[in-house]
Amino acid sequence: MPLPHKRVTAVLATVLAAVLFCAAAFGQDLTPVVHTDNPPNTAAQQAKHYVILVSLDGFRYDYPQKYGAPHIQSMAITGASAPDGMLPSYPSITFPNHITLVTGLYPEHHGIVANTFYDPFRNATYNYTQSQTNGDGSWYGGTPLWVLAEQQGMRSACLFWPGSEAAIQGVRPSYYLHFDDKLDDTKRVDQVIAWLNLPPEQRPHFITLYYSNVDHAGHLYGPDSDEVRAAVHHVDDMIGDLQTKLAALKLPVDLIVVADHGMVTLKGDPINLGEFAHLDGVHTDGSQLYPKTEAEAARLFAEFKAHPDPRFTVYRRADVPAHLHFSESPREGDPVIVPNGPYLFRTTPANPMMGRGGMSGTLHGSHGFDPSTMPEMKAIFFAQGPDIKPGAKLPPFENVNVYPLIAQILELRAPLVDGTLSTLSSSLTDAKITVRVESKDDKHRSVLEKPSAEEPVKIGLGMTPPTWLNSVSPQYTDKARKAGLSGKVILSVRIEKDGHPSEIRVVDGLGMGLDESAVNAMTSSTFKPAMKDGQPVVTVVNLEVNFQRFE
Ligand SMILES: [Zn+2]
Ligand SMILES: [Zn+2]
Repeated sequence: MPLPHKRVTAVLATVLAAVLFCAAAFGQDLTPVVHTDNPPNTAAQQAKHYVILVSLDGFRYDYPQKYGAPHIQSMAITGASAPDGMLPSYPSITFPNHITLVTGLYPEHHGIVANTFYDPFRNATYNYTQSQTNGDGSWYGGTPLWVLAEQQGMRSACLFWPGSEAAIQGVRPSYYLHFDDKLDDTKRVDQVIAWLNLPPEQRPHFITLYYSNVDHAGHLYGPDSDEVRAAVHHVDDMIGDLQTKLAALKLPVDLIVVADHGMVTLKGDPINLGEFAHLDGVHTDGSQLYPKTEAEAARLFAEFKAHPDPRFTVYRRADVPAHLHFSESPREGDPVIVPNGPYLFRTTPANPMMGRGGMSGTLHGSHGFDPSTMPEMKAIFFAQGPDIKPGAKLPPFENVNVYPLIAQILELRAPLVDGTLSTLSSSLTDAKITVRVESKDDKHRSVLEKPSAEEPVKIGLGMTPPTWLNSVSPQYTDKARKAGLSGKVILSVRIEKDGHPSEIRVVDGLGMGLDESAVNAMTSSTFKPAMKDGQPVVTVVNLEVNFQRFE
């Protein structure tokens, strides 16, 4: 049957041409992006908001005040902030905390307990600089946000993030890059924007972005240096650039800017642990000790106890103070050395740095210390966007709580983790509007009092549903708040080509003033209209206004 076969080929060729054209037209690849063959966004996921999670490595909580960072500081007014900082997990170093931010788990629960560590069961060493291990998903526990999203039919993209190059639970982000810190800083912003300009089926809803500049300057020159000041201003400019370009997109994007840890000025020379206990024949990695037997572990512990030093405390792993969450994984070694100040440790001259393999030469600054006793370890947290309450001020909180916040914004079903939503829920708006992809039938339209001239188009294939842009958040009424009422008001709204809502009616209400509140908010809202063949079209859709109480 040659004829049908030919036709299929012709259709395929047309589709391919269209795909190539799209890629070129949207300028998708400004950087060497790796594409994963994940399914497109489902219709339900297309209607959801977007989250960009930015990590500014080593950006200490007080740098905005200390050095001035106007773009980042503006987020404290337009959105939520933690003026006294966010607490990193212990140890306060890069890989453990980046994985904590995207899994909601303490390092010993996701398994990346240091930048480099030994696993006695695998008889293998994880090294954050080696693609052989950092790109091997079997080292990682937990479900990173990009994996969670992809598993639920939502696309994700990582412009660098520890672990993002690995197939974790067999899943990679739809778009990611192999780490190359030489990649131009502005191009990173432009790549994120290019991703958000992709067609709705391909456009990632969870995106990461990473800058190391402030951490590098902090290590080399110390947190009080002009070099750190310059790096702070530079990455702040990048955030400003991102804010400007995001505003032009008119998409409902929540921007969250965090750091993995802070920075402190080091004191004295590195402490040689070999001066306190006989380490010959003991496997070590940084300050982590991996004796082969319980007898050897007990011997080491006894020797350290016999030679105490105020600069550090030694614990059997099971006895490490509970607030450090550093007692359960064999990857942590045993005994465990906990620094009591800004000191570096070495076990051999060739293995000098704690928590910073790969750095050599004179270090002026470092991190890795207990954030509960050393405030310099605290990191920044800022968030702004349609789901974030303007001006919300958060007391210091542990970074395991970022994960449930992002899962909530993206309405993803999240596993139980070490963090909780209630910790950060005061930063969320009380009500949230989501567009359900559902068109109204003719019968419904006929009951409208003044049917408009233009017939609405039914939401269907090849159409982009309308998206709520921003503006007024519906207000809780005192009555509903007192009664503890929460739930959904469903509105039917006609959305004109220019994004204006009209013909707003309550389809399903909650009462106690919430229906009126939802209608009022809708009246002053604007939308990105539904698009068909690149043209805006009129639609009538159902909108859910979620009134949620977190207290
Ligand atoms: Zn870091
Ligand atoms: Zn660092």
